[in-house]
Amino acid sequence: MTAARVTAPARLVLLGHPVGHSLSPAIQRAALRSAAIQASYEAVDVEAAALAAALRQLAASGAAGNITIPHKEAAAALMARLTPLAARVGAVNTFWTEDGALVGDNTDVGGFETVATSLIGRSPESLRVAVIGAGGAAAAVLAAVEHWPAARAAIWSRTRARTESLAARYSGVATAAEFLADALRGADLVVNATPIGLHDDAIPVPVALLRHSAAVVDLVYRPGETLWVRQAKARGLRAVDGLPVLIEQGALAFTRWFGAPADREAMWASIR
Ligand code: NAP
Repeated sequence: MTAARVTAPARLVLLGHPVGHSLSPAIQRAALRSAAIQASYEAVDVEAAALAAALRQLAASGAAGNITIPHKEAAAALMARLTPLAARVGAVNTFWTEDGALVGDNTDVGGFETVATSLIGRSPESLRVAVIGAGGAAAAVLAAVEHWPAARAAIWSRTRARTESLAARYSGVATAAEFLADALRGADLVVNATPIGLHDDAIPVPVALLRHSAAVVDLVYRPGETLWVRQAKARGLRAVDGLPVLIEQGALAFTRWFGAPADREAMWASIR
């Protein structure tokens, strides 16, 4: 692996609440070990009220890291500077310190983009995407769709006002579907951007409603894949859960911090 930059952070943290379940420490420590970088990566459980103080302290010590649920949007407002992509999404999942000031980025977009385009196996030009959910993960998916020529997305979530507000933010590519069936009609790619299936065998959409040619990205992951992904595969659809996206966003974050590629194989091995 390439050596780390001189300014590379010595301490990395994951801020979230809760964070105990996160696989990020395992994958990032594996990437650090593989690159022989002497830096720590630890998960820190921070409640919303303590986020601003925690980030101030991290900035003062030149730290870097990741932000996870539920702080990604709040963290964006606490950065001194955002990359254009983080500003577009309105959420930060990766940050670092430059001259004592926090810089926020969003690598969920690139992580999703890489995994989705590899899954569909062709250029995403003119792709029709159905997005289930209207939170931060859905916003990252739409920011990726904006990069794809002539691609369009239909968003559906259980809260109409939130669906419409997200569609309005991405009005160049997205519309708010009133009914789930409207979002799914003609969809080449169906994305679960809700937590459905995270803790149990609930599914976001019956697979019988999906076109046979559709591909499925479930941003949720759990041991043995989510039931939705297993059902989609059993029906012959191309489907992946959220693990490849987790690895890819983590690898992109690693490169932001150290200016070197992350060892994705080592990251995968750490969670297998
Ligand atoms: P969020 O901002 O809280 O948004 C969640 C969305 O899901 C909202 O539209 C919410 O609707 C909807 N929702 C929540 N519970 C639901 C339920 N029981 N039934 C139907 N809809 C429900 O969360 P987020 O940041 O977008 O993250 C969503 C999920 O994506 C996370 O749980 C995580 O598993 C996954 N994710 C994975 C990765 C990865 O690397 N693989 C990265 C980012 C996110 P309401 O507005 O009505 O509550």
